[in-house]
Amino acid sequence: MVVAAAAPPTLPPTIQLDPDGDLLLRVGTKLLYPKPRVFKVCSAALRRASPVWKAMLFGPFTEAKPAHGDWIVELPEDDPDTLMVLLGLLHGVFEVVPPTVSLTVLYGVLIVADKYAMVHLLRPVVNAWAGVVKIPTLPPIDPVDAGASSVPCHITPFYRIHAAWQLGCDTLVAQDMASFIFNFSRQGQSFTLQDWPILPSSHHGPPDLIEVVTKLRRSLLQSLLDFYQAEVACRMPPKTACIHTVYGSTPQGALCDSLALGAMWRRLESSGGSRLPKTATQYDGSPNELMKALRGMFSQLPAYSTSHEKCLPGKKFEHFEKQTRLDERWRNPLQPHHKEQMQKHRERCGLSPTWNAA
Ligand SMILES: [Zn+2]
Repeated sequence: MVVAAAAPPTLPPTIQLDPDGDLLLRVGTKLLYPKPRVFKVCSAALRRASPVWKAMLFGPFTEAKPAHGDWIVELPEDDPDTLMVLLGLLHGVFEVVPPTVSLTVLYGVLIVADKYAMVHLLRPVVNAWAGVVKIPTLPPIDPVDAGASSVPCHITPFYRIHAAWQLGCDTLVAQDMASFIFNFSRQGQSFTLQDWPILPSSHHGPPDLIEVVTKLRRSLLQSLLDFYQAEVACRMPPKTACIHTVYGSTPQGALCDSLALGAMWRRLESSGGSRLPKTATQYDGSPNELMKALRGMFSQLPAYSTSHEKCLPGKKFEHFEKQTRLDERWRNPLQPHHKEQMQKHRERCGLSPTWNAA
């Protein structure tokens, strides 16, 4: 059992992870929360567990063992509760290791574990802990059916993708990347997700996440805008989209085109979107918003007469949207280097391959 021993008044009680240990870690003294802690640990165990500790404690750094007095290493900015879990795993003190964790705790543990190259220590608990990353924290890619409840946008949308990345859960990372691609809006140089600003974080799963998502969001928007622009262009003289004017333009064909164009413009104006831009860089909304606007517009165009209903692009857009949503470029945006890295992450933490496929 972990015992709190007497300590100088300025220090919190020392947690004896190894009562015979030779090193004191004073953790979290610069944090407002949680309270700082002091751990008595075995320096050799730390050295064996991680090259980061080895370099820190036994390299030419200020943390190296002093010639006289207690060996104390200050880690003022690390979270003491999180580090305690990892040190508990390292020293076999399982009283300080929770049997299950919240996503927030898992996220924090994985950040510290990665920092000190200690993710492999999670092997005894990883299969019990990993279940929490299966709960989605981002809105879905596809529109939610009327009546079904939407997944609430999590205030910290990077928690799950980061935890899933570190554990090597590639299906979940792909799901979240796709959600970012379909649901990201732009505001100046930054992004928003359902009106929440996406704050920059250095712990957001794949290091190139923002870059990849930005590029794929743009290509998805461009493909939607191209569809719209093509529908406009094919109705402008000398072209026509009227199926009754195969052998040259007719007044009837011109009216069919004009009616469709006018209704498209009217619909966009009334929804505040004005005319749509030609290039994706000029569009700030999310691809899902754009698809919704186009679907609403194309599905409600009036036909010049019943025989001209087939001149309208409603059905064509319906098919195009379906294909676009299934397109692997955006639906499964993992790049080969992401898959390779996650394979390594899975092996590192020992997550069962069947878990990842589930
Ligand atoms: Zn027509």
